[in-house]
Amino acid sequence: MERPRADLVIEHASELLTCRTGAGDLVGRVRDGAVAVAAGRILAVGTADEVAAAVDRTGARTIYAAGRVVMPGFVDCHTHLVFGGSRVDEYATRVAGGDPAELAGRGIPVGIVGTVGQTRELGVDALVGAALPRLAEMLAAGTTTVESKSGYGLTTESELSLLDVNRRLVEVQPVDVVSTFLGAHAFPPDVPPDRYVDLVVAEMIPRVAEAGLASFCDVYCDEGFFTVEQSRRVLEAGIAHGLRPKIHLDQYSRTGAAELTAELRCVSADHLNFTDPEEIRSLAEAGVVGVAMPGLDFAVAHPRPIDVRAVIAGGMTIALATDLCPGCWLTSMQFVITLACRLHRLSVAEAVRAATLGAAQALGLADEIGSLEPGKLADVLILDVERYEDLAYRLGRNAVATVVKRGRVVVERA
Ligand SMILES: [Zn+2]
Repeated sequence: MERPRADLVIEHASELLTCRTGAGDLVGRVRDGAVAVAAGRILAVGTADEVAAAVDRTGARTIYAAGRVVMPGFVDCHTHLVFGGSRVDEYATRVAGGDPAELAGRGIPVGIVGTVGQTRELGVDALVGAALPRLAEMLAAGTTTVESKSGYGLTTESELSLLDVNRRLVEVQPVDVVSTFLGAHAFPPDVPPDRYVDLVVAEMIPRVAEAGLASFCDVYCDEGFFTVEQSRRVLEAGIAHGLRPKIHLDQYSRTGAAELTAELRCVSADHLNFTDPEEIRSLAEAGVVGVAMPGLDFAVAHPRPIDVRAVIAGGMTIALATDLCPGCWLTSMQFVITLACRLHRLSVAEAVRAATLGAAQALGLADEIGSLEPGKLADVLILDVERYEDLAYRLGRNAVATVVKRGRVVVERA
């Protein structure tokens, strides 16, 4: 029988994690594991013996992963990657117990509106330039797919520009960027709220959809931000234009928008700090993925961090993300795993699963990425540790030695 030809084989890993759907241990651990790749996709995965028997490796590059862990690339399913400037002054003031309002009085950027000001000053090229080093850091830390939201423009032209940056980023570096329209991130100071919602619904969403610039439409539903009714208008307009719904839900208050989220079958509900157990169950029944962002709760010293165990107990599939933004300058999913395990009582297996397949589900991409299974994209990490639990155990270090993106070695650390 003719065996399919591989162009890359990674073999003899001390542990290979498939993170496949039905894995009883959540991570699908295989000892002395191997993965074979052809034309950017996974050809075979299993023990080294199984893979050796399944593929023709004539001419294939071989990477020996003895003493190392091999696993799927991380999927970061919630970021605000594209922005101008920095809010380091605000952060330093807050950690010291100071009042950021005093900074704003001196013209120093504070909050979303502060970042909007810094972002509007930059053109597309400068915004690409600002995002690239952040993406490079993410890739070096093992992230192979990143979701990226607009939302620091808040005018039609600037929101379109931010989404155009997402499109440009895909062309100039290896990480896949999934684009989300978040015009409903905050209200611009110079437009009345309902007028702004009209603008998002009647002008921005049709133009975003027409230009094919986003896969998802998101809304920031919370006290002081978009109401449940305004969120409904935004998400329904998105759906009508082919943009799948996502929602920032209950980060600082219980909004009651869980019902809307379940009704519209949002792909994900993100934050969930104040969502109650009954609402969690209804979201689970609607198939909504819960996105936890322990880094954000940590960075803002959130008074009520998400109770991830309750979300899991309620039956929701859980995903992890960095929430990279000027208020939470975090690029490493490994750090997120550390926080999820220590502060939110996830097992390391649960956290790894949530950072790979769970996050792929939060992007509706579980058929393509998030696990090592034949036919999926060959997004593969090699870690310089023998056991995957070291990801949570060894604090604040980068365990990623090699990153394979779509079958190509794109990071190789000596
Ligand atoms: Zn967010």
